[in-house]
Amino acid sequence: MKKCLVSGGNGFLGSHLIEKCLENGLEVTVVDNFSTMKSSNLPETVNIIDKNVEDFYTEGNFDYVVHLAARPSPEDYIAHPVDTLMSNSLGTLSMLEIARKSKGVFMYTSSSETYGNASIIPTPETYWGNVNFTGIRSCYDEGKRYSEALIMAYMRQFGLDTRIQRPFNVYGPGIRPDGQYGRVVPRFILQALKDEDITVHGKGDQTRSFLYVDDWVEATWKFLTKSGLKGEILNIGSNKEITILELAKIIIEVTGSSSKIVHLDSREDDPFRRSADISKARKILDWTPNTELEVGLINTVKWVRDNYL
Ligand code: UDP
Repeated sequence: MKKCLVSGGNGFLGSHLIEKCLENGLEVTVVDNFSTMKSSNLPETVNIIDKNVEDFYTEGNFDYVVHLAARPSPEDYIAHPVDTLMSNSLGTLSMLEIARKSKGVFMYTSSSETYGNASIIPTPETYWGNVNFTGIRSCYDEGKRYSEALIMAYMRQFGLDTRIQRPFNVYGPGIRPDGQYGRVVPRFILQALKDEDITVHGKGDQTRSFLYVDDWVEATWKFLTKSGLKGEILNIGSNKEITILELAKIIIEVTGSSSKIVHLDSREDDPFRRSADISKARKILDWTPNTELEVGLINTVKWVRDNYL
């Protein structure tokens, strides 16, 4: 039986990926400090270690090592900048060492944040980024960028089979909607379901391109398990760009809410446009995102309603 180690496996993306790993007969171990999800929804067959990834070491060997542990929500990582940098510097080192000892495949979920306020839209993997490297988002952006540099160094110096993906705004059932943990999609859904004001930062003309979690899992599974992809870096996202104001309106419509849209101050260093050039992932993985935003939103609304009302 092949073995997989997943840091941050109790989080939104991790728990979906683990479902796929279990369906495919893998034995799964998770290291997670429960910082963003307080309880576990993982099946009992998963071996769960409650630890910070940067403090984690194991004698075990793994065929796949997936490093996901992070605080992905801007308000949350800005409130925990040191933790955020540690899990994506020392934490990346811990996971790389386990993969090196295991001679396994190492996969990193980096981020579209590595591009910062991109000037090329849709953004290809070859774009070097436009990042305020000491600004309030730098704890996240630079942690991800440092990790990518360290991973490429492990690939070049030790020959490790590394794969780096940069996800773009993945959403779906299981994504936390509340408080500072809430990314924009689940946050607006919860506000809409409660008929509360929908809080748009700035004019709402900033854009994102949202990817439904099932499409993310499909791409990630292929990227993790396909042979011959050592050293590859791939955007996993969508190029269907929409403004945050449009998103708010669609969510009001989908939920049938009587919420009003209110405008808050713009967020500091909020990237103005984000859209993924996914031509490389389409070609290498023979993959294409196929869940329409409205369909993904309906599924997410159902999950938020069932779990948060
Ligand atoms: N946003 C917003 N209102 C909110 C939360 C987020 O207008 O209550 C906007 C935010 O300014 C950003 C986009 O939604 O432009 C996506 O924010 P999110 O927190 O999901 O993460 P990001 O994509 O910035 O990492």
